[in-house]
Amino acid sequence: MRKKIVAGNWKMNTTVPEGVELAKAVVAKSAEVPADVKLIVATPFTHLCPVAQVLEGSSVSLSAENCADQEKGAYTGEVSAAMLASAGCEYTILGHSERRQYYGETDEKLVAKTRLALANGLKVILCVGEKLEEREAGKHFDVCEAQIKHVLYQFTEADMQRIVIAYEPVWAIGTGKTATAEQAEEIHAFIRKVVAGKFGAAVADDMSILYGGSCKPSNARELFAQPDIDGGLIGGAALKADDFIAIARSY
Ligand code: PEP
Repeated sequence: MRKKIVAGNWKMNTTVPEGVELAKAVVAKSAEVPADVKLIVATPFTHLCPVAQVLEGSSVSLSAENCADQEKGAYTGEVSAAMLASAGCEYTILGHSERRQYYGETDEKLVAKTRLALANGLKVILCVGEKLEEREAGKHFDVCEAQIKHVLYQFTEADMQRIVIAYEPVWAIGTGKTATAEQAEEIHAFIRKVVAGKFGAAVADDMSILYGGSCKPSNARELFAQPDIDGGLIGGAALKADDFIAIARSY
């Protein structure tokens, strides 16, 4: 059965001590969350080791926000999948729209990154989603389908067990605009169909597909009630433990 997941993406926020305090607060409140909802915090690279210590023995998992597209060597400033695994990460986010938009993350690079992440034992939260002009032109289905085909279709059925998709309409990220539950459900169901097209209905049924984009305590319940929405990737609201936990309690 597919997992319900609520993952917080801290982005480039919090100093290390602030991040440690935030992680402690999440762990302290994690017992309030239904046992079948998996909590994940995705932190900046600098925070991974100290946050891993805070999470030890808790039910909260650690994720990175990105990883390198090369295995190791002379790539100044990059952080490899092996490093992330050794720091205690269980997951890494890949393909976030901010990385696609500001750092030239292409689908080709995402194939390399996903391959390395999986080879090093990490699970992947792969982000897909359309820009505002693409939504307005009615191209959102095509854009998401292409992103999934270019990246996920390069992997095997077994790999898919360790991949989660996050649908994040770019126009809803950090803007306060949320996709309506109907808009989100429509595209989640479509994404599941695209996955089924290559890997079959059983794999698609098992796949967790998260919604991301201005998800907050006031709208999470309606979004999570949709049959094809299996949780959320939460940006801004994950920086307050109370809001993050309230979202996870919406199930
Ligand atoms: C995100 O960046 O993954 C995200 C969903 O951000 P926000 O919740 O702030 O829109």
